[in-house]
Amino acid sequence: MLVGGEHVLVDPDLRRPYETDWTGAYKGRAAAVVRPGNTAEVAAIARLGMPLVPQGGNTGLVGGSVPDDTGTAVVLSTLRLRELGAVNTSSAQVTVGAGVTLGALQAHARASGLDVGVDLAARDSATIGGMVATNAGGTRVLRYGTMRHQLVGVEAVLASGEVISHLGGLEKDNTGYDLAGLLCGSEGTLAVITRVRIKLVPVYPHRVTALLAFEDLSSAVTGLARLRTVAGLDAAEYMVRRGIDLVRSTFGVPEPFRREHPAYLLVEASGAVDPTAELAAAISTLDVLDVAVASSAKDRERLWALRELHTEALTRAGPPHKYDVSVPLDRVAPFVAEVLEAVDSPSRTCHHFGHLGDGNVHLNVLGDLADELIFGIVNRYEGSISAEHGIGRLKQPWLHLSRSASELAVFASIKAALDPIGMLNPGVLLS
Ligand SMILES: Cc1cc2nc3c(=O)[nH]c(=O)nc-3n(C[C@H](O)[C@H](O)[C@H](O)COP(=O)(O)OP(=O)(O)OC[C@H]3O[C@@H](n4cnc5c(N)ncnc54)[C@H](O)[C@@H]3O)c2cc1C
Repeated sequence: MLVGGEHVLVDPDLRRPYETDWTGAYKGRAAAVVRPGNTAEVAAIARLGMPLVPQGGNTGLVGGSVPDDTGTAVVLSTLRLRELGAVNTSSAQVTVGAGVTLGALQAHARASGLDVGVDLAARDSATIGGMVATNAGGTRVLRYGTMRHQLVGVEAVLASGEVISHLGGLEKDNTGYDLAGLLCGSEGTLAVITRVRIKLVPVYPHRVTALLAFEDLSSAVTGLARLRTVAGLDAAEYMVRRGIDLVRSTFGVPEPFRREHPAYLLVEASGAVDPTAELAAAISTLDVLDVAVASSAKDRERLWALRELHTEALTRAGPPHKYDVSVPLDRVAPFVAEVLEAVDSPSRTCHHFGHLGDGNVHLNVLGDLADELIFGIVNRYEGSISAEHGIGRLKQPWLHLSRSASELAVFASIKAALDPIGMLNPGVLLS
C-alpha cells in the first residue's frame, strides 16, 4: 500500500466531500481519494499514471478541485502535507507543506512577529498549495501583491513522479526559468505542489479600519484615488446596498450606519506609526455620506464581517453563477452599470462586490446563467475573465477571450512537455 489503507478512501460516503466543490455547483465521481503524508508518497502515486486531481482545502470557486463524473480520476488530497518549517526571521521566509491552511500559517508566522502578505475569507480551509496553484489574491493585493509575489520557491511532483525542488530561499537567483512562477496559477495541471517557500511581511502595531458610504460606485472609485496616497493602505473593498441587504438578512448582522446608503468602501491601513490621522485627513477631503472608524479588534471584525460574509450569503441563496473578473479601475463603474443593465431580469439577479483597489469585481448571478453576456462585456472593457480564482472547469470554454491563440499554443506546449499523457487535472484550465 502506497499511503496506508486508512488514507485511501473508496467508500462513496467518505469520498463525497472531496467530490463536491465549495459552491455545490460541481459534483463529480472519483475512483478513490488518496491522502499522501509526504512528498515520496505523492511521487509514488504519480508514478501509477492514473488521472489525478490535486485538491487542497477544496475552497476553489471554479470547479477545478473536483473530478468529472467519469469515476476514472483519483483525488489527491494534500491535507496531510502539514509541515510548518521554522520561520527565518532574518530573511522573513518560511517553508511549509502544501496542505497547511492559510490560517495555520498566519498563526505560525505571527508567533515570530511576522505575517502572510495574502489574506482571504476562506483562510481556515484554503491551503498554501491551493493558493499558489490558483495564484490567490484576496484583500491585501493592493499592498503586497498576489500569491505570486510572496513565492520564493516550490517543491513539486511532476506527472512522471520526478520531484523538482528549489527551496533555498535566495531572493536573487537568476538561474534560468522560474519554475515556481510557472506552477503559480497552473491549477494542478502541471505538477502537484508539495512544499512552498514564501516571503513574510511585518505585523504592524497600528491598524485602522474605516467604512465609508458613497452616493454610488463611481464616487467610491474617485475617493479611492485620494485614499491611495495614505501610506500603509492595505485594503479597499467595495460593497453595495443589495449585497449588504443579503448579508444582513442571512446572518442578522446590524446595519452599519443609521441610514442605508447605495455604496460602501471598506478601507484598512496599518503601519509602524498610527495611520488614523492620515486616513482621517484623506477622508475629510472626500464626498462621503457617512464614516465609521474602527480601531479595536472587535469593531474591525464587525466591519469586515459585512464584506467577508458576502460569499457565504450568496452560496446560501444560490448556488450563484460566479464571475470573478477584472477591468481597468477607471472603468469599473460603467462596466458594472452595463452588466446590471444586461443581466438583471425577472429570471436572475446580479450581485457585485470586490477588491476595488485591483479593479476586481465579483459578479454573482442568482438565477439563469449569463456567461456569454458577462464575458462579452468584460472583453469589450479589455478586462480579464478571471481576476483571482483561475479558470477551472467553469471558465475553460471562455479562456480564448483573455488569451491569444499564440499564448494558448505555448500553454499547450508547456502542458505536453510536463504532462505528456495529460493525467494532471484533465479538463481543467485547458480543453
Ligand atoms: C469564502 C471564500 C472566500 C474566498 N476569497 C477569495 C479571495 O479573496 N481571493 C482569492 O484568490 N480566492 C478566494 N477564494 C477562493 C479560494 O479560497 C482560493 O482559490 C484558494 O486559493 C483555493 O485554495 P484551496 O486549498 O482550497 O484549493 P482547492 O480548492 O483545493 O484547489 C484549487 C485549485 O488548485 C489546485 N491545487 C490545490 N492544491 C494543489 C497542489 N498542492 N498542487 C497543485 N495543484 C493544487 C486544484 O487542483 C484546483 O485546480 C475564496 C473562497 C471562499 C470559499
